[in-house]
Amino acid sequence: PMARASAEAYDRLAEDAPIPFGLDRERVGFLLVAGDDDTERSSGKEEAEAAAACGVPIQAVDVAEIHRLEPDLASDLVEGWLFDDARRLDPAALTVALALRARRDGGDVRTSTVVRSLIADGDVVRGVVTDQGALEGDVVVLAAGPWTPSLLRTVDFRSPITGSRGWLVHLAPPRSVVSRVISRAGWHRVPPRDEPTPPITAADLMDGPPKTNTGTLLQPNADGTLLVGGSRQAVVTDEPEDPTVPQRLVRGAIRLAPAVAEATVLGAWWGIRPMTPDGRPIVGAVRPGLVVAAGHGALGVVLGAGTARLVGSIVLGEDPPFDTDPFSPARFG
Ligand SMILES: Cc1cc2nc3c(=O)[nH]c(=O)nc-3n(C[C@H](O)[C@H](O)[C@H](O)COP(=O)(O)OP(=O)(O)OC[C@H]3O[C@@H](n4cnc5c(N)ncnc54)[C@H](O)[C@@H]3O)c2cc1C
Repeated sequence: PMARASAEAYDRLAEDAPIPFGLDRERVGFLLVAGDDDTERSSGKEEAEAAAACGVPIQAVDVAEIHRLEPDLASDLVEGWLFDDARRLDPAALTVALALRARRDGGDVRTSTVVRSLIADGDVVRGVVTDQGALEGDVVVLAAGPWTPSLLRTVDFRSPITGSRGWLVHLAPPRSVVSRVISRAGWHRVPPRDEPTPPITAADLMDGPPKTNTGTLLQPNADGTLLVGGSRQAVVTDEPEDPTVPQRLVRGAIRLAPAVAEATVLGAWWGIRPMTPDGRPIVGAVRPGLVVAAGHGALGVVLGAGTARLVGSIVLGEDPPFDTDPFSPARFG
């Protein structure tokens, strides 16, 4: 329901957005593929079943159908699942569009304003301390992604959110290589069976940076460029700890679609996903005057506007738009 509420809100925003944010009107399709490998095949099946249970129409496809749909995919694939799903948007443009909309509606949007701590009066949170001074309010909504735990610690609240770094490599192929989003199965599993990103212990760190788990995800963009992703690494520092990830992603992409080798490299960047132990975000009041909305993992865009609706109802004391229990902060004690 949170994802559905988000999709509806993005559709409404696209009708009248202050700047375009590239939302696909129609689903472009998502093809999950597996090679002759038990892990790939079983986790592909599991992911397809989990999506079907959420109402996504899925079609199992054999190798001939995979190559009919996507002639440039490698010949060593053995099965696949076609999801009638996947709409793309430009997340940076969406963020700006939402901020402009909030400003138009009377919101005071401040950029480059770092929050150093929360202001608490006993148990009650009354505001935040920023580099530009204190800001007080009736309710603080803390939505600082993977940085949420450090701000919560300033009011002595422990949260189980950890960071998982993911990279994207941006390529310009000389011609279209794939026509829908393609993922090789097996590099991550469906929450809650997915391996959580555990807190790093000092003993782990002694042996070097945390290992990066890499897979392959190809997203063709409307402008003809291609995004290559599919990596996870538990985060210790804000700076990247494994600069070999883009190289490994590109290697996986060429293995999955050999024509990718001819693409020009436009750049690469990374972000940090805020992870929770059960793969669901934490949305709710944790103290009087303090609402947390964080821990959206790999789905923060998919779930963003639905989260905002839920937060709005909590702050205004209205009936929630959907069942709040799956997102309750209380589930972690
Ligand atoms: C490679 C990659 C690919 C992804 N692909 C997808 C996808 O296809 N679909 C999808 O739905 N999701 C995707 N995600 C996940 C998505 O990006 C996250 O779930 C989402 O960004 C989380 O949103 P958030 O607002 O909670 O946190 P963030 O986006 O991290 O935003 C938190 C904000 O808080 C600010 N902040 C932090 N601390 C402070 C402070 N002290 N003072 C002031 N500001 C502060 C930060 O600067 C930041 O702007 C992807 C992530 C990665 C890394």
